[in-house]
Amino acid sequence: MSESLVTVSYIGATILFILSLGGLSHPETSRRGNLYGIIGMTLAVLATILGPRVTMAGVPWIIGAMLVGGSVGIYAARVVKMTQMPELVALMHSLVGLAASLVGFASFIDPSMQLVGAEKAIHEIEIYIGILIGAVTFSGSIIAFGKLSGKIGGKPLLLPARHWLNLTGLLIVIYFGNVFLHAESVADGMLPLIVMTVIALLFGIHMVMAIGGADMPVVVSMLNSYSGWAAAATGFMLNNDLLIVTGALVGSSGAILSYIMCRAMNRNFISVIAGGFGTGGGTPAAASGDAQPAGEVTAVSAAETAELLRDARSVIIVPGYGMAVAQAQHTVNEITQYLREQGINVRFGIHPVAGRMPGHMNVLLAEARVPYDIVLEMDELNEDFPDTDVAMVIGANDIVNPAAQEDPNSPIAGMPVLEVWKAKTSIVMKRSMASGYAGVDNPLFYKENNRMLFGDAKKMLEEVFVALKS
Ligand code: NDP
Repeated sequence: MSESLVTVSYIGATILFILSLGGLSHPETSRRGNLYGIIGMTLAVLATILGPRVTMAGVPWIIGAMLVGGSVGIYAARVVKMTQMPELVALMHSLVGLAASLVGFASFIDPSMQLVGAEKAIHEIEIYIGILIGAVTFSGSIIAFGKLSGKIGGKPLLLPARHWLNLTGLLIVIYFGNVFLHAESVADGMLPLIVMTVIALLFGIHMVMAIGGADMPVVVSMLNSYSGWAAAATGFMLNNDLLIVTGALVGSSGAILSYIMCRAMNRNFISVIAGGFGTGGGTPAAASGDAQPAGEVTAVSAAETAELLRDARSVIIVPGYGMAVAQAQHTVNEITQYLREQGINVRFGIHPVAGRMPGHMNVLLAEARVPYDIVLEMDELNEDFPDTDVAMVIGANDIVNPAAQEDPNSPIAGMPVLEVWKAKTSIVMKRSMASGYAGVDNPLFYKENNRMLFGDAKKMLEEVFVALKS
């Protein structure tokens, strides 16, 4: 394939990636978006393999690598549970970071790179920055994986003088960058490169360890953005325009997502990155499940819940992480259909950080074929709770916690929440009094108009459905 045909294919792939991102922004068009992405990626891979930069001797290596990578990918996609998706995504980000760092070292020691003068300096800057971003993304994503899978506690690690530690690390990285650029040989340049890589790895670990449970969504989207910039840096190192453009697309869309997440949580982006958030002005958030319940709650049965629903004219359903754990979305859809057939106005209220990854609830509800027009964003229906008869909370906790508004010392203070307690009756469906991801107690449970339906969400909803129909 000639260079010009490769360029045309790359432009085609870029357009398809842009269309893919556009499609993925709405559930209705997301399947099409996925398809554009698949076609674009196939085109990009074929154009690269068949292009003039790959020799015949390299093809078996590429095919071998694709077979190994593809098999791991297919296996992971088949066995991973929906609730493990966020961890898998974090792990994938870490691989992009690792790839960027390895490509950086490989291009530095590549004997065929005979650059001089400004070109050499530019290439070395690309290598230094590429390895830096790659190493931060790699170690940060591994820690994020640990936190999302519960292998590492959600409590923020607050080292004394952590900001000074970060600043010192940055100064050392700049100093060694200068040493690296003035190195005469590969051997001389290796030491500063390795020192910087170690500091970048430590920085990635420190940055994510310092973030409190409730702020993890921002970290997830931020690492998503970093992985894009790491891919773009790889593109610069390999002189591959498509990788630069694709990396920039992922990097900037991840940055926009981080901004949306910050706004959703009423957080300042810089403060989240600097760490220590989710500590509520100095009181560290407890690890998940640590908060002690305070007060008395009113428990209801499935039959009583069905009664409340049957008598309602308007119902708002608020799904959370527990709905994903219980895989209750299909039963939720059946109940929704039934209630709507009885003339009851049923809508869904989606918090931007509900679940464990951006768009988690939208994906589940779309899978269960809940009509899109009744799935609304928090801002679109938060004012409607006072006119709502029943707010049904399914496996959600932090996103409906009034402490965010009522307690300035709460670790989640200031975070906008779905105001379910303003409905005539709120029903919270969960298995116990355990706290949510942020590890804070929820005063909603003790409110006079709140009812608790204890049990696994799927099981309880099935009982509610049977009671509704009887
Ligand atoms: P929470 O983690 O606050 O609460 C989920 C609740 O679901 C738990 O209290 C649990 O209570 C209940 N639950 C678990 N399993 C079941 C089950 N089988 N049946 C019924 N209930 C169940 O989730 P939310 O969605 O309310 O909030 C999301 C939280 O996750 C926020 O703190 C957010 O910051 C954080 N987060 C979000 C990310 C994102 O991108 N969306 C990423 C990382 C973190 P019990 O054990 O008693 O059943």
